[in-house]
Amino acid sequence: MHSQNASNFKHFKACRAYETAFELKKEGKIRHVGLSFHDKATVLDQILTEYPEIEIVQIQFNYIDYEDDSVQSKKVYEVARKHNKPLLVMEPVKGGHLVNLPDEASELLKSLKNGSNASYAVRFAASFEGMEMVLSGMSNMEQMEDNISTMKDFKPLTGSEFDAVRKVKEIYAKLNTIPCTGCRYCVEENHCPRDILISDMFSCMNKKQIFHSWNEDYYYEDVLTADHGKASDCISCGGCERVCPQHLPIRKLLKDVAAEFEKGE
Ligand code: SF4
Ligand code: SF4
Repeated sequence: MHSQNASNFKHFKACRAYETAFELKKEGKIRHVGLSFHDKATVLDQILTEYPEIEIVQIQFNYIDYEDDSVQSKKVYEVARKHNKPLLVMEPVKGGHLVNLPDEASELLKSLKNGSNASYAVRFAASFEGMEMVLSGMSNMEQMEDNISTMKDFKPLTGSEFDAVRKVKEIYAKLNTIPCTGCRYCVEENHCPRDILISDMFSCMNKKQIFHSWNEDYYYEDVLTADHGKASDCISCGGCERVCPQHLPIRKLLKDVAAEFEKGE
């Protein structure tokens, strides 16, 4: 059951999607029924109470979102465990943000001399009881080898490593970046009427915030908006916000992007 939140759940219930899946399982056409989840802990509690037959829950879980008010990784995890469900982890490296850390945070993890930035993020997620699998997107052989070696001889984070990722979280919070994970639902499931490359713009904005480089101005002007809409072209229809699993205030954030990159216009 893909991307369950309060509104999708309502829709799935209305068309008896859960009942249909359980019937197909009885017929042997489906082996297991699980759901991926993007909403508050109370919504997961409601789903698992109404449908205790659900076997596994996939949640967003990483050390930045652990106590975040909007993602609620910790609370959502606790609800799944209360219902005795095993979990699958998505976004363990938060769309790559926990790999490309700011220098101060990277140096801190490097000083522990126990693996790559990604390995601490993957191990953080896998350190919690009931985590059946940690799903991490990989784009080259090096990343795959790093992930395999991290999990092959898995060791949970030690107390001092937990302290270190807590400090990384504090460093990260000070940067005030946009917590977009790059899932692209806002462009692929929504079809923005102004063809705005929302997630690429947020990534560009974050890089400017972290590295203060002119390169991002060039990228915004000559790549992101050459054949696509500008941030200021947004007509505030709200379609993107309805599908964003991170519940980002995209329309407001695009105003910030326009203020940063369209100053001279
Ligand atoms: S609110 Fe703006 S960015 Fe979002 S879909 Fe509508 S036009 Fe596109
Ligand atoms: S849907 Fe939200 S989190 Fe996903 S890419 Fe778009 S803005 Fe980012």
